[in-house]
Amino acid sequence: MIGGLHVNNLSHAFGDEMVVNGVSVFVAPGEVVCLLGPSGCGKTTLLRVAAGLERLQKGQVRIGETMVDDGATGLHVPPDQRGVGLMFQDYALFPHLSVRENIRFGVGADTQARRAWAETALGQMGLSRHGDSYPHTLSGGQQQRVALLRALATEPSVLLLDEPFSGLDVARRAAVRGQSLDMLRDTGVATLLVTHDPEEAMFMADRILVMNNGRVVQDGSPEQTYFQPDTEFVADLFGTVNRLTGTVVDGALATAIGTFDARDLEDGRVAQVLVRPEAFRLAVVGETPAPRPGDAPYRPTSAAAPTSDPGVAVTGARSLGRASLVSFVVPTDNGDTKLEARVPGVFLPEPGSRVTVNVNANQAHVFPVDDDV
Ligand code: ATP
Repeated sequence: MIGGLHVNNLSHAFGDEMVVNGVSVFVAPGEVVCLLGPSGCGKTTLLRVAAGLERLQKGQVRIGETMVDDGATGLHVPPDQRGVGLMFQDYALFPHLSVRENIRFGVGADTQARRAWAETALGQMGLSRHGDSYPHTLSGGQQQRVALLRALATEPSVLLLDEPFSGLDVARRAAVRGQSLDMLRDTGVATLLVTHDPEEAMFMADRILVMNNGRVVQDGSPEQTYFQPDTEFVADLFGTVNRLTGTVVDGALATAIGTFDARDLEDGRVAQVLVRPEAFRLAVVGETPAPRPGDAPYRPTSAAAPTSDPGVAVTGARSLGRASLVSFVVPTDNGDTKLEARVPGVFLPEPGSRVTVNVNANQAHVFPVDDDV
């Protein structure tokens, strides 16, 4: 048998409301798996059941080779006997204990080796100077790192994190995430992390499990989840998308911005193409769009705009510093449809001017219109 966390066919209801519905999760030692989904989809409930904080109703939870919850037999191992480290959004450090004491708290044997580990870990997390400080004197990011070390101090084989970075401001979050990820990799713990922030999941995860209404609707690497969403719901989760609808003809969806592969859908089906703002390449009419280093591999749509293309009308452009947001309208059956492109650098065409539009088909996804998940 293999180590790590095994959640098998877990279902959980509060009253009549089924909030987790037949979910299985495996996290291998050293792996970081993110549960990503909108508020209320059941992420925290799943985590709390895995931790033993919520009594399991149906399914099984195994930590390594040890069964800790079994719905069939009623087996339930209490949270503190599972070998699981927990960290929740509010950190909950002990206010009357110093940083060092917080980290050592709960460590069964206060051995020389564990003390040495704590000192090394403090150093790795940039907290060496704060060993004797009390939590209230630390910044949010420092408190978060102490909480993570406290969760790791017992050498758990599984670590469960619920929105661990949500209390931090944007600038600090990136640094703390990076340090935390290094730490998790060093310890080889199996980590299950709950977040509603897709960027956080992309950064932290080896694998993302997207949840909706108590079910896992996609399980894959961050790249697969982002670039090959199985459903409209998953595509939507990663931020604003542009939508154009049409009818599938000969396995293709023709739109005002190109023709998209729709061979999985039957002819005559009403479908929509979802295009991420960064999938557009814009250029002043008559010019070629600049290549974009670091971009997703560019694959033109099958009807890439010819050079004689008159372009589309710009309705507005705003600089975001590193990128520009350009809105424009394209003619559709229902009149003009407004779309928004996010292009790197400063590209601020005047409202009313015309730009040519190319779409990276790798970042455009076709789904049937009534495919509500
Ligand atoms: P969030 O990101 O907002 O924390 P979530 O995906 O983690 O959301 P859960 O906290 O698991 O979702 O909640 C799932 C559903 O279960 C929600 O509808 C919530 O109101 C309900 N719920 C959670 N805990 C309880 C409880 N103790 N009693 C009754 N209903 C609950």
